Amino acid sequence: MSNDVSGPRVLVVEGDSSAAPAVIAAVEAVQAIGGTTTLAASVADARERIEESDFDFLMLGDDPALEALSWCAELRDDETTHMLPVLYLADDESTLAAALAAGATDFVCGPGSPTLLEQRVRYFWRSSRQYRDLEESHRLAQRDSLTGLPTRSLFDDRLQQAVLHARRSEQRVAVLHVDVDRFGAINESLGRDVGDRLLQQIAGRLEGCLRGSDTIARGRPVADETLSRLGGDAFILVLAGLGNKFEPGTVATRIIEALSLPFELDDTEVFVSASVGIAVSPDDAAASSDLVRCAQTALAHAKSQGGNAYMFYSARMNSDAAARLDLVGRLHRALAEDEFELLYQPIFEADSDAIRSVEALLRWQDSEEGLVLPANFIPVAEETGLILPLGAWVLERVCRQWRNWLDAGIGPVRISVNVSARRFLDPGFIAHVDDTMARYGVDPAFLQFELTEGIVMARGDATRATTRALKSRGIGLSVDDFGTGYSSLNYLQDFPADVLKIDRSFVRGVPENQDNCSLVAAIVAMAHKLRLSVVAEGVETEEQLRFLRALDCEQVQGFLLGRPSTPEALEPQLREALGGPAARNVVAFRQRAIS
Ligand code: C2E
Ligand code: MG
Ligand code: MG
Repeated sequence: MSNDVSGPRVLVVEGDSSAAPAVIAAVEAVQAIGGTTTLAASVADARERIEESDFDFLMLGDDPALEALSWCAELRDDETTHMLPVLYLADDESTLAAALAAGATDFVCGPGSPTLLEQRVRYFWRSSRQYRDLEESHRLAQRDSLTGLPTRSLFDDRLQQAVLHARRSEQRVAVLHVDVDRFGAINESLGRDVGDRLLQQIAGRLEGCLRGSDTIARGRPVADETLSRLGGDAFILVLAGLGNKFEPGTVATRIIEALSLPFELDDTEVFVSASVGIAVSPDDAAASSDLVRCAQTALAHAKSQGGNAYMFYSARMNSDAAARLDLVGRLHRALAEDEFELLYQPIFEADSDAIRSVEALLRWQDSEEGLVLPANFIPVAEETGLILPLGAWVLERVCRQWRNWLDAGIGPVRISVNVSARRFLDPGFIAHVDDTMARYGVDPAFLQFELTEGIVMARGDATRATTRALKSRGIGLSVDDFGTGYSSLNYLQDFPADVLKIDRSFVRGVPENQDNCSLVAAIVAMAHKLRLSVVAEGVETEEQLRFLRALDCEQVQGFLLGRPSTPEALEPQLREALGGPAARNVVAFRQRAIS
């Protein structure tokens, strides 16, 4: 076949060696208008030729031995050939209707006059070209303008075909849902333009990952057709022809690694991480739309565990998600219907067993489930932002209680309040604290906020400003559950805390567990060096108390000396410890705190 052809390139499929007159005439017509013909004598032969080179159209002879019509229908089902125009060459009219039904584009019946046939072929060629151009512009319209990748609708088509094909050949198909972690923050800090260019580079790397994929090469040849941008920073891809259900994990790892290498943008290096959710058909879902949904669910799980990881879908994820959604709904209702209450657990001086302060602990009296402990709802409240109104409710109740006790001649009582990181960083936090304290006339010196190690570690401007604002008001700060997070001594040195609370998990093993004993001793010594007062949490036995006293640990909290109780139940104890002339107690308390 010469390269400078001016006419159409035509594949002629004709099995009979003594070709039908209609076919001979058509081949002559193609050559007469400057075209070239390639002959295929069998369907298998034709398939090979189509894979080897590009044809403008195909001429199909009316040959019963070839089963040409059923093959024509197959052509229409195959994604690489479904747009190829087919001119059906019939010797008589008997098979015309069947040919058109099988997907032939047009037909020629009998040899007829050579001139007429030439015109017919020329016309068919021209209209098929127009058709192809139209198809090409349609194809471009289905591309994402930023990355050139197929859009969702095209991807859906491809996926559907892949799933059907896999079902027929009993193979597996995987959908990988890729999402850049915290892309919003990148967009915000670098600007949208840079964000867009980053997405282009990300798309390029994803394509690179696919080109290197064996599964892709085995499945279907056109890698870019299997990758698509869903919009924003989300990409989705389909892997066909999988041998086993775990192969997609290899591709996901490759993707995560490729995206973790730095990106060059305006001479700066940008680092991102990505998460991948994987669903496999038919294991997870049969329908392509369900498959995408499963991959999305898996992605959400990967993200909820910190991102930078891939996760396979599992059916449990759905029930988890449903249960979580149910919990969110019930929490909203609980807040509206006032189903929360606060218990107060006393914190004692280790040497004298006198009550030094109380910690407010949240409880939820759910109408369906009864008493729910904070561990079972605080994490979800934090994720959904419900912790903001919930935390505000807690502080409101605490301040009201402080006032009620004082009016009843008890206190002032020093109250510790747990503050979640989310609320601590909320821009409205300080204003709400001021407002609530003012409404009940609370002396800030009697409030102690318990913070998690995450806040201590953050060291951002917002954290610093909030910390300073609280300190300047005289509100105390405790580091709660110390030892369970990742705070290092460095961080602690920079953070203006007054109190360090040793987590229950360390106290539990005292005094039997030697490691726990050494750890608790080290934490107490270190805290004292940093001039922090120490509270040991979860003290349940006399032995623990004795051990802690010997270490000069100042304060203890735990079931041994006092459980979380309602304010009413706690009143007699508080009155005994803090009642009488309030001022004297305060002075005494302050002196103890200083000494
Ligand atoms: P936390 O601040 O470390 O509170 C101490 C937890 O230890 C409480 O659990 C308390 O009941 C428990 N505890 C105290 N002494 C003992 C003991 O001797 N043995 C045992 N086994 N446990 C003891 P609770 O009330 O279930 O609270 C769990 C966590 O939920 C709290 O840990 C705190 O992080 C969070 N939380 C509680 N109330 C609030 C709140 O109002 N706001 C926020 N953001 N978090 C809260
Ligand atoms: Mg606490
Ligand atoms: Mg704690």
